[in-house]
Amino acid sequence: MIEVRYENGIHLPAEGLWLDPQGSREFAFISHAHSDHTGIHRETILTEATSRLMRERLGEPGGREYVLPFRRRAKFRNFEIELLPAGHVLGSAQCLVTTAAGTLLYTGDFKLRAGLGSERAQPVHADMLVMETTYGLPRYVFPSAEETIARVVKFCVETLEDDETPVLLGYSLGKAQEILLALAGAGVPILLHGSVWEMTRIYEAMGVRFPAYGKLEPGANPAGHVVICPPGASASLRKIGRRRVACLSLWR
Ligand SMILES: [Zn+2]
Repeated sequence: MIEVRYENGIHLPAEGLWLDPQGSREFAFISHAHSDHTGIHRETILTEATSRLMRERLGEPGGREYVLPFRRRAKFRNFEIELLPAGHVLGSAQCLVTTAAGTLLYTGDFKLRAGLGSERAQPVHADMLVMETTYGLPRYVFPSAEETIARVVKFCVETLEDDETPVLLGYSLGKAQEILLALAGAGVPILLHGSVWEMTRIYEAMGVRFPAYGKLEPGANPAGHVVICPPGASASLRKIGRRRVACLSLWR
């Protein structure tokens, strides 16, 4: 069995490899570009989309990047690693580590049902599985994605009919693009907060297609549009007069 330790991140000491560690390390795998998984390490294994999204958020990388495509094994030191889609946000990856001692699959954040804006997760077998399970307890039971999307669309249409501005709160990376894609076909005009707009442009550069949208310019009146904002953008929200706000995450 591969030896695994938890030290502010998952550490494989025999391989000298860290998985989504906090702080800086010599050699790390970064599963996706959310800030609770990223860091500046001397050497980093990651996907191209994660690299691009991190560059937009953190600037040029401080160390060396090994950008790996999905489903291609690469050899480092005394182990091999293969990245597999995790279905969480664009570019999010699980990693399958193979050594003489066996195999280990680390998931990072993952989602098994098909998402709208990310590659579909691909489960594989391994001797050892390390999962990140934010909602893993049995008490978390969610409605279907179809039901939730139908409620979001209804909320937007009814709010616009009442001459108010629907504001949907979702993380600028991942959740916001799922919301935008969920509104395709709803026939509502959409404006994106600047940080959402920047992440969405990178999704587009990586080949994801979205319904039409505009950018919410500072000081502009978004009346008649659905506005997609990150939860922290309260300053932008104050300028919107008559508004109804819906938060599309359990995380705030
Ligand atoms: Zn995440």
